[in-house]
Amino acid sequence: MEISLRNQVAVVTGASSGIGSGIAKSLAEAGAVVIVNHSSERSFEEAKAVLKEITEAGGNGITYACDVSKEDQVVKMFQDVVSQFGTVDILVNNAGVQKDAKFTEMTLDQWNTVIGINLTGQFLCAREAIKEFLRRGIDPSRSIACGKIIHISSVHEIIPWAGHANYAASKGAIRMLMQTLAQEYGADKIRVNSICPGAIQTPINKDAWSTSEALSSLLNLIPYNRIGQPKDIGSLAAFLASDLADYITGTSIFVDGGMTTFESFSTGG
Ligand code: NAP
Repeated sequence: MEISLRNQVAVVTGASSGIGSGIAKSLAEAGAVVIVNHSSERSFEEAKAVLKEITEAGGNGITYACDVSKEDQVVKMFQDVVSQFGTVDILVNNAGVQKDAKFTEMTLDQWNTVIGINLTGQFLCAREAIKEFLRRGIDPSRSIACGKIIHISSVHEIIPWAGHANYAASKGAIRMLMQTLAQEYGADKIRVNSICPGAIQTPINKDAWSTSEALSSLLNLIPYNRIGQPKDIGSLAAFLASDLADYITGTSIFVDGGMTTFESFSTGG
């Protein structure tokens, strides 16, 4: 059995770092042309380095700077990708940030930034992707499905997180966005799912793994006793985007080493 995304074009948002870079590499390895999105020219070198790894491994793609929280930039990104590559088959809505604060000290700016990127960004990209999927229609030479969307959510889609109300709210909302889109566009053969990572070793959570004390405290939350890697998410994203997953839509898949079994209850709670 082979995961194949040959002849398909994938937009991966926030692919200049961490989980997004892992997903971009896995999709390219499966044969997709990958748009390595990053937020602005500031991160061009990082995006270029990801693309270099892709092309050196025999894959194909481009980098594309676009702030996913800005409607005009998202619309233009999809227009440019369609005019360069003909269409878009796969969207991985991955770009995300944290702006943490105790709730009573959280500024409106911290709230709006996180909701703007993590949730509104996923709305804008999904809307443009679905418009393009419907315009193209099903093309069996590409995929059985008309299009595939993968939202990168989090275990905080279901685990409340003190000090991170904006982040947890954005991830909880992604679940309803994902399920509503799966319901609304199922008959059009558009599949929509979420991946909910646990602790994955990336810059976003450096404080949780960069010292041995922090790592050991983190591992107390993970029955499988290791921190996750971007590749752990990339492998599932490639499978979910492929026709092997054709009957999977409207669901959240947790990739968390067992974090959502609530390890602290293993000794009686
Ligand atoms: P990361 O290494 O900090 O990467 C974040 C990525 O998002 C970067 O490529 C960044 O690009 C991009 N980004 C930020 N703002 C953007 C914007 N306005 N427009 C476009 N791109 C933007 O973090 P990560 O851990 O890989 O996180 C990726 C996703 O996984 C997030 O949605 C996060 O919530 C989720 N997640 C992570 C973990 C974890 O343990 N790491 C767990 C659960 C969920 P620039 O550098 O160009 O800004």
